[in-house]
Amino acid sequence: MSLNDAQLRVWSWRLRMALPVNGSVAVRNRGLHIDLLREELDETTAALSAGDVVGVADGLADLIVVALGVAADCGIDLSPVFDEVMKSNATKTPGNLRPDGKLGKGDAFVRPDLETVLAKQGWKR
Ligand SMILES: [Mg+2]
Repeated sequence: MSLNDAQLRVWSWRLRMALPVNGSVAVRNRGLHIDLLREELDETTAALSAGDVVGVADGLADLIVVALGVAADCGIDLSPVFDEVMKSNATKTPGNLRPDGKLGKGDAFVRPDLETVLAKQGWKR
């Protein structure tokens, strides 16, 4: 399943639930979105800490649903944003790991141009 497929499923679900799916890009309902993201992140980190695989899977799926819901409410088509981020990630240097295990950016790293992607969706600074 592509991100766009997942996004369409969340949009469709939100419409059935009478939740907003906006056509213009703007930050909306920030307090609610912060609370929902924090709740699901807390559940996921608790499951990780406990070594609870089912809880981790549940938390990650809920985080995706909430993230796509925030994007829908804020009018962001996240699929091209994701594509741009992954295009940027492809410029990272394989094996360039930081001490904490995260992949570092490296000399060839190209930042994602999200302003251009969002401008194509009607966003204006
Ligand atoms: Mg949950």
